[in-house]
Amino acid sequence: MAGRGGAAATVDPQPQRAMSYATVTATARIPGTMFAITHASKAAEVLQANQQQLKTKVSVALGGVPVQWSDARSPCLKDLRVLTSHLQNLEITRREAILFDQTQTTALEGRQGAQLVLMSSYEADVASLAAFFTGHVLPVRLKAESRSEYHRAWRSFVTYCVAFNELPNAFPTTVPLFQGYIAHLMMYQYAPATIIKHISAVIARNRDYGHILLQRGELTRYCESIKKSLIGGVAQRTRFRLFPEHLQKFAQLQCHGDLVLERNVCIAMVGTVGACRKSEIMGADVCDWVEGRDYDSRRGQPLGASLNIRAQKNSLVPKSKKFAYGGAPETCVVLKMRMYMERAALRVQPGCQKWASPQGAGVKCRLCGPLFPSFPFGKPAALGARQGLSKHTVGAAVTDLLERIQADHKHYTSKSMRQGGLSTAKRAGIPKALRMAQSGHRSQAHKIYESDSSSGDEAPGVPRAAPQGGWKLEDLYQFSRQFGL
Ligand SMILES: [Zn+2]
Repeated sequence: MAGRGGAAATVDPQPQRAMSYATVTATARIPGTMFAITHASKAAEVLQANQQQLKTKVSVALGGVPVQWSDARSPCLKDLRVLTSHLQNLEITRREAILFDQTQTTALEGRQGAQLVLMSSYEADVASLAAFFTGHVLPVRLKAESRSEYHRAWRSFVTYCVAFNELPNAFPTTVPLFQGYIAHLMMYQYAPATIIKHISAVIARNRDYGHILLQRGELTRYCESIKKSLIGGVAQRTRFRLFPEHLQKFAQLQCHGDLVLERNVCIAMVGTVGACRKSEIMGADVCDWVEGRDYDSRRGQPLGASLNIRAQKNSLVPKSKKFAYGGAPETCVVLKMRMYMERAALRVQPGCQKWASPQGAGVKCRLCGPLFPSFPFGKPAALGARQGLSKHTVGAAVTDLLERIQADHKHYTSKSMRQGGLSTAKRAGIPKALRMAQSGHRSQAHKIYESDSSSGDEAPGVPRAAPQGGWKLEDLYQFSRQFGL
């Protein structure tokens, strides 16, 4: 953390990241502070040192009890319940605000479609009614993946508080603690967007429990200064997109029974052709992948596979991404997925209700497990013990593939799959409505992901707008056909 001012600095002409760190050629102490800026070539080494120091601080603060770490870049406690005994003296609402795990299914969500009839308790007071509201009503507004994302960010913040012996001040968060957290995140070399996501989670947790951390407009000022400090005068990182030529090379990598590699190829292909968010890859269950159910109305042949994302409002029909059978078996996404799922023993389990009832639709399936699980020791874990991937692993999966095909992945970002898919489709002339259907965009937001250099000519044989009576199933598969796989 504090720079080792005396360390000899070597000059490396190869900047690793287009952040302001890269402009520094030697380790330099920042006057009047305990910190130092060093050359980008030391990024990995500094990161590791920062992580180690923080973990030590946390473990000292907790009196040496063994803790579990999640694999986030900034050290992050896996489970905040280890802190319970350290919060005994705090009033109950503050303790709740710090420890509450909003990723858990609320009592109301778990009622399996039964009509909600709440029974009052005569012992209840206003505080317990409020706790019921924040614990069981408020979290439901967010999608499961946002909830876990927010919770991860909150755990990272609380971990920082522990390290600096400020745990009781985690809620209501004091402004110096909050500002310090931003500086802390900068030490983990996060991009501005990630830092902003992290601090938004802290603001949201405070707001959920009735504390206004920043006044209106203040977050904007914070964001601006974070962006300007980190990106500075250096040009913003070029957007890197995954294109069909990448996917073709990935598809032809020899896996030789390497299940992790086979899974990673599927992640990159499904992620790009499906214009997926990382969270959609992480959140997909085995039973969300459905092959051979959609038929071409004219030819009577199956069209490919769907990846169900969520239920459409008031309906059992899922919103889904479509993957057409490819022209060549060795690059066909659907066949790749079929082989991968067979090899990894990923099957829809008997009794799976995910898409069978309105209550099941979209709720994580406990029976079938994740579509892209981690493979401890390279093998599938036992059913029921399968863990999904973290954001970090999904990113690392694609970086690893790019390395294998010797592509320059310096500018690879978490949005590369999504942006690449949308750009390819736009360039091929796929109309906006179909692009929105595949990407699941509900607004105009898809525009920012698409490359501006493309003309957007019309694809032959694809209607520009939804025909009367709605899109035909075969139309929905047009997006994926543009990859020529
Ligand atoms: Zn299932």
